[in-house]
Amino acid sequence: MADQNQAYVDRDLSVLWHPCTQMKDHEQVPMIPIRHGHGVWLEDYAGRRYLDAISSWWVNLFGHSNPVINAALHEQLERLEHVILAGFTHEPAISLAERLLSLTPTGLARCFYADNGSSAIEVALKMSYHYWKNRGDTQKTRFITLTNSYHGETLGALALGDVAIYKQTYAPLLMDVISVPSPDCYYRDEGESWRDHTIKRFADMEAALTRHAGEICAVIIEPLVQCAGSMRMYDPIYLKLLRVACDRHHVHLIADEIAVGFGRTGTLFACEQADITPDMLCLSKGLTGGYLPLSAVLTREEIYQGFYDEYTTGKAFLHSHSYTGNALACTAALATLDIFEKQPVLERNRELAAYMGSAAARMAGHPHVAEIRQTGMILALEIVQDKRRRTAYPWQQRRGLRVYRHALENGMLLRPLGDVVYFMPPYVINSEEIDLMVDVAEQGIDLATMD
Ligand SMILES: *Cc1c(COP(=O)(O)O)cnc(C)c1O
Repeated sequence: MADQNQAYVDRDLSVLWHPCTQMKDHEQVPMIPIRHGHGVWLEDYAGRRYLDAISSWWVNLFGHSNPVINAALHEQLERLEHVILAGFTHEPAISLAERLLSLTPTGLARCFYADNGSSAIEVALKMSYHYWKNRGDTQKTRFITLTNSYHGETLGALALGDVAIYKQTYAPLLMDVISVPSPDCYYRDEGESWRDHTIKRFADMEAALTRHAGEICAVIIEPLVQCAGSMRMYDPIYLKLLRVACDRHHVHLIADEIAVGFGRTGTLFACEQADITPDMLCLSKGLTGGYLPLSAVLTREEIYQGFYDEYTTGKAFLHSHSYTGNALACTAALATLDIFEKQPVLERNRELAAYMGSAAARMAGHPHVAEIRQTGMILALEIVQDKRRRTAYPWQQRRGLRVYRHALENGMLLRPLGDVVYFMPPYVINSEEIDLMVDVAEQGIDLATMD
């Protein structure tokens, strides 16, 4: 069996080019071919098991090979796999739109499908700009975004983001955006509450809106957690203040809940914690339970009506992707919503999150852990060189990669963001598995910070 594992690795490395990877790393870092996934566990061809502590890049909610989602897909497969969604429609796309609109904050009335997170961001950008243009507001051509934000890798989405390792290289290709300092509470003063820090940071947003509103289509934000930006977190009050300010300045509010939607932060959607409705809500990742690529942009009726006119007015939103509203993907999403409906998922997540928090709490005393932060089912450990001054290790030392390798050797998929080690497990994890996850991370951090 070990030979079979190696055979797949060899074949892979002679033909594939992997995402988000310096391929030369694989001269040292092992490639793991997965034969089988069940619940939180992945298994390779040599029979080695790995606990998927990051939900396979934040997409998986109810485990691999989930029986409910599997059964729904088998059934749908016998009926219809896919059909063009322009001029044609199908039951899963309709039901999913109905259910998403009834579950998301009130005021969202229309569902536009795309096929991945970045595409949903592109849709929201174009929709916002085009809405204002249709109204004759041709001055509005720009977007406000937060520092340390992440919205995807396509050029429009990348322009909105601010994570240097992904963005810097492509800077000459990207549209210009207005960047406002993030409320990121890692930078709060000693003794200052998340809320106070967050409120203080809103002054910059207010100033940017006051100064630029006339040329701004929308503000885009990741509610509560900037995930790819090292799992940095802030208080829900920011969203409340932003909603009021966007209304006052006639600017759209785009909520990118691609990573935080579907129960990750403790509520079904993060926006609920601020009791706000965005003008556009972008969903993907957990939308299909981690099964198939699909995304949706939900918006208000007024925005939809801004495009509704005679064809010859040129107001229509002529955006599309080939796999828009794919029937199998919509079916996986419906089965995912069934699980939320039939099982006390959010209640159980609250218990799991509390357990995870107390299991990780002992690392607060670690000489190289500057902060443990948590929002719902996301917990992050900030690894630093000097705890008192909070200075990071030189990035070239790649301490996080040492944690990654240690975890692999100990049956765990942890994939630190730089030197930030985090847990974002599927919701079907149990308390023993959480203990294991924290133990392996702790050993990994010990090893990675030894010298
Ligand atoms: C992952 C992610 C995206 C991009 O989604 P893809 O499906 O990877 O294109 C956008 N925004 C946020 C907040 C994300 O985490």
